Amino acid sequence: MSFDAIVVGARVAGSPTAMLLARAGHRVLLLDRATFPSDVISTHLVHVPGMALLRSWGLHDAVANAGAPRLARFTMDFGPFVISAPPPPSDGAAHPYCVRRTVLDAILLDAARSAGAEVREGVTVEGLLRDASGRVTGVRGDGFEEHARIVIGADGLRSVVAREAGAGTYHDTPSLTACYYAYYRGLLPRDNAEIYQLGDRAVVLFPTNDDATCVFVACPSAQFHDFRTDVEAHYAEAISRVPSVAARVAAAERVGRMHATADVPNFFRTPAGPGWALVGDAGYHKDPVMAAGITDAFVSAQLLADAVHSGLSGGDLDAAVQSYAQERDRRFLPALQLTCQLASMEPPSPEMAALFATIAASPAESTRFFGVMQGSTPIAEYFAPDNLARIMSGAAGAAI
Ligand SMILES: Cc1cc2nc3c(=O)[nH]c(=O)nc-3n(C[C@H](O)[C@H](O)[C@H](O)COP(=O)(O)OP(=O)(O)OC[C@H]3O[C@@H](n4cnc5c(N)ncnc54)[C@H](O)[C@@H]3O)c2cc1C
Repeated sequence: MSFDAIVVGARVAGSPTAMLLARAGHRVLLLDRATFPSDVISTHLVHVPGMALLRSWGLHDAVANAGAPRLARFTMDFGPFVISAPPPPSDGAAHPYCVRRTVLDAILLDAARSAGAEVREGVTVEGLLRDASGRVTGVRGDGFEEHARIVIGADGLRSVVAREAGAGTYHDTPSLTACYYAYYRGLLPRDNAEIYQLGDRAVVLFPTNDDATCVFVACPSAQFHDFRTDVEAHYAEAISRVPSVAARVAAAERVGRMHATADVPNFFRTPAGPGWALVGDAGYHKDPVMAAGITDAFVSAQLLADAVHSGLSGGDLDAAVQSYAQERDRRFLPALQLTCQLASMEPPSPEMAALFATIAASPAESTRFFGVMQGSTPIAEYFAPDNLARIMSGAAGAAI
């Protein structure tokens, strides 16, 4: 049998893409070498715009009621000033959630299956099939071949689809941080995502499922080798820099092992070509400093599914995926640049420090600022000279 689309990778990028295409009436094969439920190296923040997309897909309540607490606010503590406020609502969603990937990814996979996608777990794609013109026409693995009009790589950072398609990278910046996290049960509060910028360390608290909080520590890549000589000691030292967090962590129960990665490069990959396209981390990878990979995967899944649907429905499929490619870059380049800036862990310039202090003094402007961090306020619009002048002149809080 031949499919309209084969999607390789069934997590936050692949399952929504497969679901949307199947709902549009296309024959979709969704493959993953993993079996579900299963975990990945990732913390858990789904920003409000991500929850809004889940809402538009009819999945908001399934995710919101999956055992992670509703987050009422973000707190970004820079030491001299603290920005703390609810993030702004977006398209009918009001709260972010930190849902464990074992739970979130399984919900998304079930939704793809329910939509009619054929799902095969525990299946590894090893290469692409091509016709005489070089156009991608399917996938192959150990003992199988499948054909489709388009192959979509949602297979993450080390994407086999990208490698086999020859997708190059651009806007590259190598890994800037190393990341460590563990879970603590009984840590309060349960309704606030807390982010502490501590010079050469960041400490982040994400309340998640099972009454647990993910306690995340990042250090600059340049210190990775030193950090790994005694991970637990360096992790504890970072937490000790915030006495209020250290006291809460000490009173909580550690659950499970430490998770770590220093493999967080920043880049775009060419997102599409004849018979193939990339979505999620496969096409756009970045440091987790803005905790945006899941939300961005949802946005890209919607963009790509819309493009592929129009191409499969009598349109020009190649032109449709090229329009996706352009829109993907247009939408995410400012965020990629801001991510690299934040992940460099350089202290803010005096101008930025003054801006953050002014924002911190205004609850309304703090909420607007979190609109930038969650991706609902365009970065260029927020940092436009007239908007910065408005904030600094004390007009902060006039409008959200
Ligand atoms: C430390 C850390 C913390 C993070 N925290 C956050 C956060 O708080 N919020 C947020 O939004 N983002 C966060 N991210 C980013 C987020 O985890 C990723 O952006 C997201 O997982 C990308 O999803 P994806 O579906 O594109 O790829 P993945 O989640 O990597 O899934 C790819 C899938 O493809 C499958 N696959 C791969 N190769 C093959 C093959 N050859 N054949 C078959 N299947 C294959 C894999 O088994 C896997 O299931 C974090 C990342 C890191 C590293």
